[in-house]
Amino acid sequence: MAFLEIINLNKYYPIGDHEQFHALKDVNLSFDKGELVSIIGESGSGKSTLMNVLGGLDSKYSGDILIDGENMGAYSEKKMVLYHKEKIGFVFQNFNLVSHLSILDNVTLAMTLSNVDKETRTQRAKEILEQLGLKDQYTKKPNQLSGGQKQRVAIARALVNDPDIIIADEPTGALDSETSDQVLDIIQEIAQSGKLVILVTHSERVANRSSRVVTIADGVIVDNVETGPLKVIDQKFKLLPMNEKQSSKNLSFFSAIRMALLNMKEKFGRNILIAVGGSIGIMSIVLMLSLGKGVNDYLTDTMNENVNPLIVQVTMTSDTETDEAKALRESKDGYVEGSGVGAPSFPPAQIIGGDSEFTGPPGTQNDLAFDRVNLDELKGIVHVDNVTEGFSAFSFTKNGIEFESNNYTYMNFATVSPDMTDSNILTGTMPSKNELLITEGLALSMSADVNEMIGKTVSLKVDVSGEVLKQDYTISGVYQSSDVVGPAGLFDSVFMDKDTFVELLD
Ligand code: ADP
Ligand code: MG
Repeated sequence: MAFLEIINLNKYYPIGDHEQFHALKDVNLSFDKGELVSIIGESGSGKSTLMNVLGGLDSKYSGDILIDGENMGAYSEKKMVLYHKEKIGFVFQNFNLVSHLSILDNVTLAMTLSNVDKETRTQRAKEILEQLGLKDQYTKKPNQLSGGQKQRVAIARALVNDPDIIIADEPTGALDSETSDQVLDIIQEIAQSGKLVILVTHSERVANRSSRVVTIADGVIVDNVETGPLKVIDQKFKLLPMNEKQSSKNLSFFSAIRMALLNMKEKFGRNILIAVGGSIGIMSIVLMLSLGKGVNDYLTDTMNENVNPLIVQVTMTSDTETDEAKALRESKDGYVEGSGVGAPSFPPAQIIGGDSEFTGPPGTQNDLAFDRVNLDELKGIVHVDNVTEGFSAFSFTKNGIEFESNNYTYMNFATVSPDMTDSNILTGTMPSKNELLITEGLALSMSADVNEMIGKTVSLKVDVSGEVLKQDYTISGVYQSSDVVGPAGLFDSVFMDKDTFVELLD
């Protein structure tokens, strides 16, 4: 049995209300590891459509896609995330690098969904970048690199999670011929190291470098020719295997928060949209923006372009607030206030879509809460499965926990979000009613043995809109913070469930 099998694949795109366009017609293909397959065909013939289906970016098709004998159509949501994270890497014509982030961060970002600790992530990214000849470029931004270098960064990003399949859609389309040869050498080495590489191309020259050429015309596979073994090249590039332990199944999104913070720093006070590129090209999009004019369209377009974002986080800042929202807020009519330093009461600070979510970044000076109309708008956006409200309050001095007549300050207070899984609990459990979850650093400051803190009653102080609320709670658990990036990793944090927080406000 082949590693990847496509059986009777048909794909229709709906156009208008009643019509549909038949983009892939009875496609049957199979691929094995070690192959470098070129898919060629005129523009509009269905190449990208086929890649999107294979990449698990488009699930609206009929037929079967078998990977290692398993039917992709039957993957659970979780399995699909793991497929994107561990099995497949994408390289695009226009690189899709995140312009605000350094080369190194662009690559480590692809490991966001892994529970790999920060040090290992950085080390791994550096090793791959170095092998691709980018050793001295770690701190540069993408626009400081040449096209060939950018594409090598994109290749590093695609490879960093050690996937079995690499899909490259016109990877040399934006490169001159000498640079494309260098990139093709790398791509060929990847195939020779035992990966399946599927290369979409217009170019005869590029196709000549592959071991098989599949031709597609108007959605039909019209030719499928073995072109002989790959030419012998001196193998310079060594892929680093990802060991099992590092490849944890726990999905943690805290890296996204760090990226959000980095961006906030850089672009503070302006509309910010960060496309966070992951191993599926765009794995998650963190949005920190208003719902100002045009933003909905932008958001919708971006989501359509990137097909399957898993997370979207949206916060509204005062300078990007619409006039209507401002008027509504000032009239205090129907507006729900909340979030962040200097902003009042509950809810929310975070709006999250897709199939997972993370704690919002610390509130900023100009954070505002969304009103109900905004929330409904967000829910209506294409691909948003789920909108979750949350609250976070960040304070450098006022947030504290009193325990045995000592005061322990912490900075970040937040309501729990579903991405905070049991697997990150060091000891104890997630907080239920009238309970608190605290991060490891905070627990360690209270007791050398964090287990001792479970079940202890403490007095919580939290600064909500300048008013310090105080209440006794029981510690339910200690949250691992050593290997997460973001508020819970950078700062001591306290979490409680939303209902408990609502009661605290009363
Ligand atoms: P290629 O990558 O080979 O240039 P595509 O796979 O992008 O081609 O597109 C194949 C055909 O499907 C084209 O005719 C294109 O217009 C059509 N198509 C692609 N995406 C959509 C879509 N979202 N809705 C309707 N038609 C689409
Ligand atoms: Mg295309």
